[in-house]
Amino acid sequence: METIERRVLVVEDERAIADAVAARLRAEGFVVHLAGDGPSAVQAARTFRPDAIVLDVMLPGFDGLEVCRRIQAERPVPILMLTARGDETDLLVGLAVGADDYMAKPFSMRELTARVHALLRRAQKTVAVQPVQPSQPTIRLGDLEINQAERRVLRGGVEAHLTPTEFDLLVHLAGRPRTVLPRERLLADVWGWADASGTRTVDSHIKGLRRKLGADLIRTVHGVGYALEVDR
Ligand code: CA
Repeated sequence: METIERRVLVVEDERAIADAVAARLRAEGFVVHLAGDGPSAVQAARTFRPDAIVLDVMLPGFDGLEVCRRIQAERPVPILMLTARGDETDLLVGLAVGADDYMAKPFSMRELTARVHALLRRAQKTVAVQPVQPSQPTIRLGDLEINQAERRVLRGGVEAHLTPTEFDLLVHLAGRPRTVLPRERLLADVWGWADASGTRTVDSHIKGLRRKLGADLIRTVHGVGYALEVDR
């Protein structure tokens, strides 16, 4: 059924990991290009034009965070960032510079491919939905304005620059303002994951939304989920 060639750039300097990831993704039908340092990753994003990028943070040249920053400034691409386990700083900076998802090392190949598929599904949805439905309504809630057709968000008239995932998450929350949405449900609806093992990803993106749009916008219901706190 799927005839579109999908290209994944894998950026990792540890050859054994890079080769294993590439082999698995090729087995899944992806066209894979490898880069082993920061500068060649940025170059490969230009020439190979990947549909998604698997990006390790620790790289020679300049690190994955800088790679992410430079690539997203040129042409937005969905990025899955690989971080050292427990490194919260890398994670938060990664999401701030435009990564859509992250995985801590060590990870299973099954999880990696599931994440890459989910990233591409979301990206395709974004591309496919826009031209077909140019009249997607602009959501206005209190001082929040979400222009779905242009994928732009303003709060109090000030534009916030969200990643594609942050945008999708916000639209979901805005679909049911003042209603608590469970993290597992957000994970399934926004990320397309069936299991609940990645709920921390939801938490991280909520942090990103609060940082960009104001801490008061989203309420945490501990042990359950999140609600958008704006006037209908
Ligand atoms: Ca590395």
